[in-house]
Amino acid sequence: MTDKIIPVADIRYASRVPHIPARITAPTGLLGDTLGRPLRDLRISVTDRCNFRCSYCMPREVFDKDYAFLPQTSLLSFEEITRLARIFVAHGVQKIRLTGGEPLLRKHLEVLIEMLAKLQTPEGKPLDITLTTNASLLAKKAQSLKDAGLQRVTVSLDALDDTIFRRMNDVDFPVADVLNGIEVAQKVGLAPIKVNMVVKRGTNEGEILPMARHFRHSGAVLRFIEYMDVGATNRWRMDEVLPSAEVIERIHAEFPVAPIDANYTGETAERWKYLDGGGEVGVISSVTQAFCSDCNRARLSTEGKLFLCLFASQGQDLRALLRGNYADDQISAAIGHIWQARDDRYSELRAALPPDATPPDSSRKRVEMSYIGG
Ligand code: SAM
Ligand code: SF4
Ligand code: SF4
Repeated sequence: MTDKIIPVADIRYASRVPHIPARITAPTGLLGDTLGRPLRDLRISVTDRCNFRCSYCMPREVFDKDYAFLPQTSLLSFEEITRLARIFVAHGVQKIRLTGGEPLLRKHLEVLIEMLAKLQTPEGKPLDITLTTNASLLAKKAQSLKDAGLQRVTVSLDALDDTIFRRMNDVDFPVADVLNGIEVAQKVGLAPIKVNMVVKRGTNEGEILPMARHFRHSGAVLRFIEYMDVGATNRWRMDEVLPSAEVIERIHAEFPVAPIDANYTGETAERWKYLDGGGEVGVISSVTQAFCSDCNRARLSTEGKLFLCLFASQGQDLRALLRGNYADDQISAAIGHIWQARDDRYSELRAALPPDATPPDSSRKRVEMSYIGG
């Protein structure tokens, strides 16, 4: 292990074993945290590995051949993931997103999807199960994912220009293969597909309009994501963030758009529709317009640590409970207790600071996006 990766490894292994409350109460599906936010969305990272090296996420000077990815034995098994998911669903989770790393690198992922697809909410409704992928393996796997019960996919794509895209994924992966993955996924019915583009000023801002043109009338919903200061390795700088308001201005100048209502409370994207009927686009303004007040998301790392915020530096080790022979009702009570104590609102706190101020908790090393998933 080299010096430069020690901070990341430190974060990965820093965690608490959750407290099991003395009084075990059954889940009501109505949990609220200290700010009254319910628990609705669970993001599960199924691998910390990826075949891309996007510079804003897994810069190759850190995630190099010496990087210590998690060993197989520390990953949660599909049975362990499903057991936890069932408990989360009893607490109110309605939507599960599989992520990573690159989730399609996890072997036999279809088996996990099949297991999760059998879960139901306390009202007897099926879960909304989706997956975020770089689409490098999507054309090959779309049909089996659909057959296993996956409903939709979100594809990350940062440019249409092949040179820019190859540079951003930093493994020389061609854009044509991603576009083919999207097409196959649409054909097998993994729709409506969302396409996420992280916008970095000075890197791919010239791709905003070509991407908008390409995905209008395509049935896919393009969403522009502000480049976030997540993790500790991407050397984030505020001057590389292109505010969503500017993205919308640029699109509006060529294709007039108007705002439309959110699909549901807690939706991260702000939605806009093309006035000529070309469909919709979205913006996710994580930096310039914090949406912590509605944040109903929990994140489960590949090795079973629960994170309550993308900017957290410590997780709660649920795997220790799973492998420590605790009963479901004890694990459930521990999760309820953790959520009820949640007070995370990093982006709101940062947004309230003057632009040149030090971000909240900047002395603590934050967890990487590739480890807990986006
Ligand atoms: N590998 C899959 C993919 O790229 O879709 C799933 C995991 S990836 C960590 C999930 C999402 O996080 C992607 O859409 C990616 O663009 C986004 N992401 C990663 N680092 C980011 C950053 N610093 N700012 C904004 N979004 C980021
Ligand atoms: Fe891999 Fe996704 Fe991160 Fe890119 S954003 S390096 S595809 S995990
Ligand atoms: Fe949720 Fe944390 Fe992001 Fe706020 S900063 S929206 S609490 S993940």
